[in-house]
Amino acid sequence: MRVLAVGGGAREHAIVEALTRSDADVFACMKNSNPGISRKAKSFALIEETDVPKVVGFARSSNAELAIIGPEAPLESGLSDGLRAAGVLTASPSKAAAMIETSKSFMRELLAKHRIRGSVQYEIAGSVQEVRKALDHLGTGIVMKPIGLTGGKGVKVFGEHMLSEKEVIAYAEEIFSRRIGGSAKLVIEEKLVGEEFTVQAFCDGKNVVPMPAVQDHKRAYEGDKGPNTGGMGSYSQADGLLPFLRREEYDAAVSIMLSVVSALKKEDAEYRGTMYGQFMLTRHGPKVIEFNARFGDPEAMNVLSLLESDFSIICTRMATGRISRKDARFMPKASVCKYVVPEGYGTKSIAGEEIKVDEASISREGALVYYANVNEKDGKVYTTSSRSVGIVGVADTIEEAERIAENGISHVQGRIHVRHDIAKKAMLDAKVKRMDEIRRSRA
Ligand code: AMP
Repeated sequence: MRVLAVGGGAREHAIVEALTRSDADVFACMKNSNPGISRKAKSFALIEETDVPKVVGFARSSNAELAIIGPEAPLESGLSDGLRAAGVLTASPSKAAAMIETSKSFMRELLAKHRIRGSVQYEIAGSVQEVRKALDHLGTGIVMKPIGLTGGKGVKVFGEHMLSEKEVIAYAEEIFSRRIGGSAKLVIEEKLVGEEFTVQAFCDGKNVVPMPAVQDHKRAYEGDKGPNTGGMGSYSQADGLLPFLRREEYDAAVSIMLSVVSALKKEDAEYRGTMYGQFMLTRHGPKVIEFNARFGDPEAMNVLSLLESDFSIICTRMATGRISRKDARFMPKASVCKYVVPEGYGTKSIAGEEIKVDEASISREGALVYYANVNEKDGKVYTTSSRSVGIVGVADTIEEAERIAENGISHVQGRIHVRHDIAKKAMLDAKVKRMDEIRRSRA
């Protein structure tokens, strides 16, 4: 099967690996020269992923039968709609369905309108006056987010990134004046307390086939400190749950996602593609932080490294409305992904530096390499301001998978930063203990 894959990050490298494992011929579109993808693809085009006519033109000239879009920006540009109109089966949501990610106000309003469980108190504001009114209503236990896409970096949490009402107003003014996220609007919502987790699911417009739960780490520095980033690393457990996550809590999250897919259908925005649900496990169960209209990055590397079933068939079934649980089997193993990022990532990355990735040694350690937003030139790999390489360990236990990932990382050299604490036993034990305390605090 001839498959178009759009995007040049580690998530897309993992997508391309999964497609080639299922014997697909991959044709890739990306804006950077990702060596992992270019090596696997039959051919590739270095173009802006949001340039719908160009990407559709490349799909046509490659005779692509099926397409999957990795990043969010092309979904917002309507690339899925363009590809479908050109007769390409597309395993990614339309522009209308992708609003579940691209508009945080649409998402909150959809949950409220359809009375879907797991929502939070929120207010939408377009002026400082409205922000002040929202603070009167919600108090200062809040987070503030621009409405549109910010690559996971636009959220500020009171008590961490904003320490006074004055700072809340200052950030609101910045969002309004700089139109952060593409509009002069923001959401203020209740600050949730608990442990975050991700459930991704294959969706075909009505059915939802969930994948193993994953926990990502958004903060740049060890101990979950520092600025929010695109994600520094993630892990999953062999039974599909997480050390702090119980079966009924996972099931509650899946049921929220199913309700969202049904609600979108009722709104005439049928959702076909991978959906990513990010939840906070609170003392009252899972609450929705956000949805993404695609795989998460790094979470794609966890689940796709474990996927045993044929990924091209899964994509075809998502696109044609016929997916069922038996289509998606995952190895009953744990996975740990750690991102190698440029020094300074999260504030000011050192871009354009060469990094040395000794793939042969990483492979001897049993680890997997997924290239992210790097550029390959004359056989050398250079950083950009985004994340560089994801290294994944797969094993029976999280502890063993973590060790494999760390051993792999020791073969990446350069001016890099890694969060070594991710998935270490001390961190996992602390999460279990904290979650037990939160559950006990249930009134
Ligand atoms: P988002 O871009 O919505 O995924 O948010 C990025 C990060 O901000 C999340 O991973 C959370 O750590 C934090 N966050 C977002 N919304 C909330 C909320 N309502 N309560 C607490 N933390 C949040």
